[in-house]
Amino acid sequence: MKNSAIDAIMHPESLAVVGASTTPGKIGYTVLENLVKQGYTGKIYPINPSADEILGLKCYHSILEVPGTVDAAVMTIPAKLVPQAVEECGKKGVKGLIIITSGFSEVGKRELEEQIVDIAHQYNMRILGPNIVGVLSNSDKMNASFAPYLPLPGKATLVSQSGALLIAIDASTYTRGVGFDKLISIGNMSDLDFADMIAWLNDDPNTSCVTLYVEGFKNGRRFMDVCRASSKPIIALKSGVSAHGAAAAASHTGSLAGAAKVYGAAFEQAGVVQASDLDNLFDRTLALSLQPPMKGDNLLIITNGGGVGVLATDAAERYDLPLKFAPAEVQAELKKHMPEFGSAKNPVDLTGMAGNEWYHDAIKFAYAHNWVDGLVVLYCETAVTDPLEIAKSIKSALDESGTKGKPVTVSFVGGERSEKAMSWLVDHGIPAYGAPDTAVNAMAALREFARMKEMVNESVAACGEEGRAEALKVIEHARAEGRDSLTEIEAKQVFSAYGLPVTRTKLATSEDEAVAIAREIGFPVVMKIVSPDILHKSDAGGVKVNIKDEAAVREAYRAILTNARNYKSDANIHGIAIQEMAPWGTEVILGSVNDQTFGPTMMFGLGGIFVEVLKDVTFRVAPVATSQALRMLAEIRGAPILAGIRGEEPRDRKVLAETICAYSNMILDLADEIAESDANPVLVYAEGKGVKVVDARIILKPRP
Ligand code: ADP
Ligand code: MG
Repeated sequence: MKNSAIDAIMHPESLAVVGASTTPGKIGYTVLENLVKQGYTGKIYPINPSADEILGLKCYHSILEVPGTVDAAVMTIPAKLVPQAVEECGKKGVKGLIIITSGFSEVGKRELEEQIVDIAHQYNMRILGPNIVGVLSNSDKMNASFAPYLPLPGKATLVSQSGALLIAIDASTYTRGVGFDKLISIGNMSDLDFADMIAWLNDDPNTSCVTLYVEGFKNGRRFMDVCRASSKPIIALKSGVSAHGAAAAASHTGSLAGAAKVYGAAFEQAGVVQASDLDNLFDRTLALSLQPPMKGDNLLIITNGGGVGVLATDAAERYDLPLKFAPAEVQAELKKHMPEFGSAKNPVDLTGMAGNEWYHDAIKFAYAHNWVDGLVVLYCETAVTDPLEIAKSIKSALDESGTKGKPVTVSFVGGERSEKAMSWLVDHGIPAYGAPDTAVNAMAALREFARMKEMVNESVAACGEEGRAEALKVIEHARAEGRDSLTEIEAKQVFSAYGLPVTRTKLATSEDEAVAIAREIGFPVVMKIVSPDILHKSDAGGVKVNIKDEAAVREAYRAILTNARNYKSDANIHGIAIQEMAPWGTEVILGSVNDQTFGPTMMFGLGGIFVEVLKDVTFRVAPVATSQALRMLAEIRGAPILAGIRGEEPRDRKVLAETICAYSNMILDLADEIAESDANPVLVYAEGKGVKVVDARIILKPRP
């Protein structure tokens, strides 16, 4: 049912234009004109209560007067008239609505927007919009929008949350030479959202890559699920990554843009390739729409110029595809297709003497060789070669190689002749770019897609589920006392219930008890204030470490109580925690937030100044699979510290990654209870020696 409504919107056999206007320049006129003049072959019904004919078509005063069936309706009438028009469409049996009209949630009129969705759903209709430009489709020759013309034809489909940007992109497809089959404006996403369109496009034979311009989602998890299930490459440009940008995006679309790092993490976990800016979105879209994914790490670069070769080599490292030398037998064969002074290493330098034949033979061999996972061909225009002939040699070499399913990108550096040759290549399915850096970046997108696809369906290890009852008991106890935070002891009980390795801790309410517990645990011990009113214990002089004997325990007991009372005289003090003193280890932080778009989300970073000053932290939406946890450890700037620097042994990243997984399972399982939490610090030991959580904090969600 759902898909048939989207089908009706995307391929209507009959389309009503509700609000068709007789006045050129008005949106209601432009939409009708675009449909009539740009090749749409379905039936078009202009609807206008006071016109009889527009652009040579019979005009109906109400959609209910249209004689035949109507699959979809485009609306351009003022917002206040939309509810009634939606009702009439429902009565008429229309399946899908393209609501161009603005003046809904984006200007605060949320109720009006909810009203039209409710009416539409009563009639099993779906809504695209409101506040959109419309839908443009080359394969249906349908321009159901007020954008001026259909985009340059291509294999990608753009779904854009910004209407103005969609129109600008429409025009620039011609100048950039990057084509699209469809441009879909989704505006306020009152009903159909990114997830619906991605799911539908996955079955669209005319779309090979889904390109997204995103300002913010309402339901981040559903987006992730749909992307994971999609077999096609999806690439997203997310705006609003700066704090100021996020505010602009929020007021502009009526939806809130979440933290940039969390979006980045969600895209990675969902297998969505990211673009860094608008140019990059086009460049990467071109490669993703024309070429297969790059399934391994071995990139080979073939060039006729040392300079562009070095630029490409630098770019390869920058985009996480560092070059390796090709095996000896590959080098030996390539040597046959270059002069004595050429280089068969990687980049393969055929030298400025290279003509069509050397390019052809070197590419044909390299592309077919098993070692090569992806090929970037570079060419600098020379006096003795014709760029178009080189382009044709590249194409025929690939065709003759007998190999398929391996990606190629190309860069020609030169003038007008090179531009023409590159257009020829793109027309023949080979993405070509004016700079070597861009060709490598496009290849990196194909690699990222393949790499993420391998990871996204990895299942998350189940753990700690038996701990739920125990954790809830601790939480209920705190709630019963009217608290919205747990003490360190309680938080550690919850962590421990989910299998996290915490330091052994017990509460003492008298000096004698403190001594007895310290003996039981074994010296040295750490002593800390336990008070729901003191969250940062060190600030209150509430932490004493390395306490070595009974006398020191008694002294610390008194000192901590005095410090705490001086810090906050009315603090409710539960007692003093006596805990095992963990040996020195590398300090890291694990934490969680409840992201408004994606829900429970994990944070990881190194402790101390790394987190406080450098904000060197990374996120993943829970649950976090082990491979993703390992990527978190690798992607912070301080990663070398975990790998072991200055002769230090590498840290136990395996156990740390498992701890992140377990922690992420806990925050997901307790999503209704935990608002925020952290384990700060967690001490990480040498490989094989594990980790220890020495401090724990949990803030509870208010009960609804
Ligand atoms: P808070 O963050 O509330 O000030 P912590 O419990 O994190 O208090 O203690 C402060 C510091 O003391 C920690 O960062 C850690 O360096 C050290 N520490 C705390 N507990 C232990 C422990 N059990 N073993 C070893 N060191 C500890
Ligand atoms: Mg702490």
